[in-house]
Amino acid sequence: MSTEIKDHYHETPLMTPQNLACFEKLLDDALNDLQRQVGYVVSELTQEQSRETELIDSTMVHINQSLNFRLHTRKSYLIKKIKDALKRIEDGSYGSCEICGEPISLKRLFARPVTSKCLACKEAEERLESLVS
Ligand SMILES: [Zn+2]
Repeated sequence: MSTEIKDHYHETPLMTPQNLACFEKLLDDALNDLQRQVGYVVSELTQEQSRETELIDSTMVHINQSLNFRLHTRKSYLIKKIKDALKRIEDGSYGSCEICGEPISLKRLFARPVTSKCLACKEAEERLESLVS
């Protein structure tokens, strides 16, 4: 029978050029979005700073600032991850685990397009992190 149907139910369907183009678009859009947001957060941060100093004491302002800062840091981190993923699309390594070299399942990639590790390696890494932190 048709191999198409079989592939559809396969756990780790292989990356096709169409899928790759789809991921590239997805990542590109996310990158543009984040870069806009980061610009927004920065300008919002400076605005809020002056507004809130009048309202609440400096400790609150400080907490608020560090929250915004963390948000900003997280977004910068994501931007870096997306750029890395786009680089992997370019050099052809996108979709393969950077640790074991096995293909990452498309399901996982669609859920988390910036990922560079398969689920097994990611879980192993997280277990390790929880042990040392
Ligand atoms: Zn792996």
